[in-house]
Amino acid sequence: MFEGLTERLSGVFDRLSGRGVLGEKDIDEALREVRVALLEADVALPVVKDFIAKAKESATGEAVIRSIRPADQVVKIVYDGLVEMLGGEEAEGLKLALNPPSIILMAGLQGSGKTTTAAKLALRLTRTDRKKVLMASLDTRRPAAMEQLATLGKQIEVDTLPIVAGQSAVDIARRALQAAKLSGYDVLILDTAGRTTLDEQMMAEAAQIAQIAVPTETLLVADSLTGQDAVRTAKAFHERLPLTGLVLTRADGDGRGGAALSMRAVTGLPIKFLGAGEKVEALDVFDARRVAGRILGQGDVVALVEKAAADLDQAKAEAMAKKLAKGQFDLEMMADQLAQMERMGGMEGLMGMLPGVQKMKKQIAESGLNDKSIGRQRAIIGSMTKAERRKPDLLQASRKRRIAAGAGVDVAEVNRLLKQHRQMADAMKMMTRNGGAGLAKMAGM
Ligand code: GDP
Repeated sequence: MFEGLTERLSGVFDRLSGRGVLGEKDIDEALREVRVALLEADVALPVVKDFIAKAKESATGEAVIRSIRPADQVVKIVYDGLVEMLGGEEAEGLKLALNPPSIILMAGLQGSGKTTTAAKLALRLTRTDRKKVLMASLDTRRPAAMEQLATLGKQIEVDTLPIVAGQSAVDIARRALQAAKLSGYDVLILDTAGRTTLDEQMMAEAAQIAQIAVPTETLLVADSLTGQDAVRTAKAFHERLPLTGLVLTRADGDGRGGAALSMRAVTGLPIKFLGAGEKVEALDVFDARRVAGRILGQGDVVALVEKAAADLDQAKAEAMAKKLAKGQFDLEMMADQLAQMERMGGMEGLMGMLPGVQKMKKQIAESGLNDKSIGRQRAIIGSMTKAERRKPDLLQASRKRRIAAGAGVDVAEVNRLLKQHRQMADAMKMMTRNGGAGLAKMAGM
């Protein structure tokens, strides 16, 4: 998968690394080439536009890490963009219900690989997760589809619901649910009927089954070889069915990867698995970081830049701790702290990481501390001269007006920030008087 894109991108990076210092023109040119590479890989245009805009912003906004070659930093920016485009850092995997049986509903066009994928999931759940799985085909129109699932079931030693001729899809679903409950299955996989094209009746039937079965996961299986058609299919299904995730099949034959790259951004749904062959074992958990690394083929460069960035943060934190130990806390240090907060995902991100903080959300919101205010505070500090940042006492009314105008806020907000800073600085002084213990912790180390 992605061979074409990998080749194009590595050409772009090779040309960049031949140069020493990168100017804006070099970056623009490189990103233009990345744009063409993505379009050639059949990535949807709005997704490409968004990607390039964000990459450009990071390329110009990113603090320059001196120990790193600029070209490597561009690799990292493209990598970060790809990870985001593919759905972020966390691999989703399959969610299971707290109270069994978990119901997994499979939907998709005929020929997309739905039935094969049902069996692949069943095999993974039994072998890896030690779950007791039952599969049932609801494809009343095609007896061959039911037989196919039964055959696959035998092959992987997973039970399938006995076939009863003449039952409706809804009746089969009810029977399957009852059997799963009565016989203590952990997971029930329902394979809905497919058609070769998007068809109202097919989607209505799947929606009806979803209402009855209340699935834990409703997965759309889409053929990645069909590129943007797969994306359109996913969108159409999602409008009728509350999908929870996607499985892209035939990733093994897909050299372009446009569907995989656009799917998440266009549908908002996580890609959970990739089908990577005809065999029942050929199913990979989708992991955006791994896939992005594979596309770029520059895993070591990404690791290097990540480490350098971490080292830089560490060096800054150490310098700050030293200043703090002397009771100093100037506005530059405050700006660093705000920047670090933003890097960690802003207030929202930080709060998400801290247990128990959810409950405090309301109070925090009322205190006026939020991501917008962090951005404005950084803008205010950014509008000051270096001397002013070191010695805020220099700031008189006329200077404050100039700073407010520069940051696009009113003077009252500048005063609020200065007051906040004074309180923080006073707190730091108090702490140093009480002996420096615990200061390193406050500096974020
Ligand atoms: P359904 O009509 O959606 O249920 O599709 P099937 O499960 O019957 O699959 C159709 C064909 O695609 C079969 O020949 C499968 O072996 C094949 N297939 C399914 N998934 C993959 C995959 O990930 N890679 C490859 N190469 N073939 C696949």
